[in-house]
Amino acid sequence: MTQAIPVQDLSRLCIHTITTKPWSIEEAVDRYAEAGVKGITVWRDAIEGRNASEMGGRIRNSGLDVVSLCRGGFFPSANQQNRLKAIDDNRQAIELAHSLGAPLIVLVCGADSTQPLGESRKQIREGIETVLPEAEAAGVKLGIEPLHPMYADTRSAVNTLRQANDLCQAIDSEWVGVALDVYHLWWDPDLEAETSRCGDMGKLFAFHVCDWRVPTEDMLLDRGLMGEGCIPVRKIRGWVEESGFSGYNEVEIFSNRFWEMDQAVFLDRIVKAYQENV
Ligand code: ZN
Repeated sequence: MTQAIPVQDLSRLCIHTITTKPWSIEEAVDRYAEAGVKGITVWRDAIEGRNASEMGGRIRNSGLDVVSLCRGGFFPSANQQNRLKAIDDNRQAIELAHSLGAPLIVLVCGADSTQPLGESRKQIREGIETVLPEAEAAGVKLGIEPLHPMYADTRSAVNTLRQANDLCQAIDSEWVGVALDVYHLWWDPDLEAETSRCGDMGKLFAFHVCDWRVPTEDMLLDRGLMGEGCIPVRKIRGWVEESGFSGYNEVEIFSNRFWEMDQAVFLDRIVKAYQENV
């Protein structure tokens, strides 16, 4: 007897606008809604030149939830002027999220390879604490996304869920938590334990899925569809749910291969991969 593959329903499927980058946000909203997708995470480039509050209304009218805004962060720099610029930029992101009606900003925290990682981590904490009052006043949460260590040079000095949990604990604000992305964390032997700890602290704010292709041909732009690589996505989703998370499963894929495809065909493949492998 062949075993039936359990099929995931679409009630918690969210897609990041960058996943279907060739589409305008207007087209993405219409197509996602038609396909039965329930949530959208908006990347800032996707709403450039648009009125954010009108776009938020349009998204909700189409039946989608605005799940989060990507992205803020990039706090560290050896240069103080750059650190101040980053604070400004994060304040703008908070305003934008508020106008859009996004309850969460995902933070790619940043790193500066000309200084020690420890210094970058200190500046990340200072940066988050500096913008925290604005985030709180706007009703927008901040989700620290730990990034795979291959990005520790320039993209994030926060590279494990343990570090993100520790940072949340140190900052100790209900407005600061974690965005857990399987692409960045699947390899970590402490992932199950730290996911449970994150949930116990009430800090698990977002869950991002895709897959790790073998071999990966580009460090940034070769993410796979769920089921195409070596990440046990469904198993990790199980840990995430056991920890109390009941939010969206967000499909976030940067891929030159997929961006070259007909995006309608790609969207069908996303939905199928989601049903079978998330
Ligand atoms: Zn992510």
